[in-house]
Amino acid sequence: MYHPLLEKQAQKHLGTKALESGEYEQFLKAVNESYVNFERDKELSEHAFSLSETEYADVNTKLREEINQRKRTVIKLIDTIRSIEKEEDFKELNDQNLEEIIDYLKVQIEKRRQAEIEMTLAKEVAEKAAMARSEFLSMMSHEIRTPLNAVVGFTYLLLQGKYLPEQDEQLHLLKFSAENLLALINDILDFNKIESGKVQLEKTSYNLPKLINQVKNTNFTKAQDNGNVIRVMFDTQIPNIVIGDPLRLGQIINNLVSNAVKFTHNGIVIIEAMLLKQTNDTAQIQFTVKDNGIGIAPENQQRIFEIFTQASESTTRQYGGSGLGLAICNGLLEIMHSRMTLESTPGKGSAFSFIVDMGYSQHAEEISITGNKDTVTDPDLTGTKVLLVEDNHVNILVATTFLERWNTKVETAENGRLAIEKIKANQYHIVLMDLHMPEMNGYEACKEIMKMKPKLPIVALTASAMLNIRDKAFDVGMVDYVTKPFEPNELYEKIRKNRLPLSSPL
Ligand code: ADP
Repeated sequence: MYHPLLEKQAQKHLGTKALESGEYEQFLKAVNESYVNFERDKELSEHAFSLSETEYADVNTKLREEINQRKRTVIKLIDTIRSIEKEEDFKELNDQNLEEIIDYLKVQIEKRRQAEIEMTLAKEVAEKAAMARSEFLSMMSHEIRTPLNAVVGFTYLLLQGKYLPEQDEQLHLLKFSAENLLALINDILDFNKIESGKVQLEKTSYNLPKLINQVKNTNFTKAQDNGNVIRVMFDTQIPNIVIGDPLRLGQIINNLVSNAVKFTHNGIVIIEAMLLKQTNDTAQIQFTVKDNGIGIAPENQQRIFEIFTQASESTTRQYGGSGLGLAICNGLLEIMHSRMTLESTPGKGSAFSFIVDMGYSQHAEEISITGNKDTVTDPDLTGTKVLLVEDNHVNILVATTFLERWNTKVETAENGRLAIEKIKANQYHIVLMDLHMPEMNGYEACKEIMKMKPKLPIVALTASAMLNIRDKAFDVGMVDYVTKPFEPNELYEKIRKNRLPLSSPL
């Protein structure tokens, strides 16, 4: 059997006879082989071709996918650049031109780098400015406090002594103004401290109802002057002993109560504390101070929380104040992770409230709250020998007048060096030490005295209320701290608390 085509052609051209004769057999075998080979090669080449065609299609699809992926990436890149760039800075980019995009990015990265350098510089400048401001405030407060010490001190003394009836109003006005000025200095310093992030909240156990009652008592006289009554509504579910910073919480509530008392006449001020939630160790408490006073117009309700801002221009003239109180409250609340809310209707009254989470413990021991300004009846320190170290003669006069009134035996030294000499030669129950003095300052003197008489209590007496100065005083071994102008009761209490026992031999 030959290849069908060869068979057909041989039949046609040679005829069956010739084929059967065997004459052409060799020749036809050879031709047949060529036919078969040709057929096989053809099949092979066709197969090979079809193979490379599918491979080609595969490669092609992959390539197309890659191109699409690249396109999508470039578009995404452009979108990202657009989203991080300021609208006005953004330049339309061609998504076909990767090189153009890279050049654009290079420029932008350089711009950012420059901006970062400028920002670091600006930050340094701002930090320096903040430090200068802080130093300026510290210095100014010192400068203002020293003369104010004399004004406040002598006004107290004058009011306690004999004076003409017509001087009564003038003296009370003098006391009011001096106290206002002092409060303003304290507020500025406090605000500065809060703003520069230097306030750290204390964590002590204290009696919350007692704290609120103290706030009520502090504002009692002013409330009476305005014909107001103060009521406390304390949720009995609240644990009595809580853990937190009593001075700062007291400061916030006191600010609100003193405003309420100030802006209300013949009305009622309510201090409310309500338990909202309680877990095993925390209590969420809402504090509200309400009054039925003059109220605040809706357009001023945001503004009054800004510094040095009051509801109206006439407020300072009529009511005093600096417009710092609420800004301080909000600053402190921010540190406590809370904020103030206000509801008020002009002519009807206001309600300021805030919510704080406080720790509590059934076993927490109560620590008495410092800064209690309750008046001491009959202050008496008979037998106490005090060394007053102070260079300013007005301050010496104010302090010694009080100290003598409390029956102490006072000696004075005008600087640290003289104090050391006196302490070598004499015995004292307590030393009141100014910090800034010529020749030898209070810190140096304290260090020397501690080497000689480590048990002798030294109380810092200074016009600066900056926290770092207080820390420095404690670092050198002082036991307590009184800022000038001093509250007589505070000075009295700190001497009584810290002096060496009168019974022990000196
Ligand atoms: P200051 O009382 O020292 O002026 P604050 O920051 O405490 O500063 O208060 C800012 C202003 O908000 C006050 O001057 C007053 O106009 C308004 N204000 C605050 N509390 C009350 C209140 N209870 N009733 C009416 N107005 C208030």
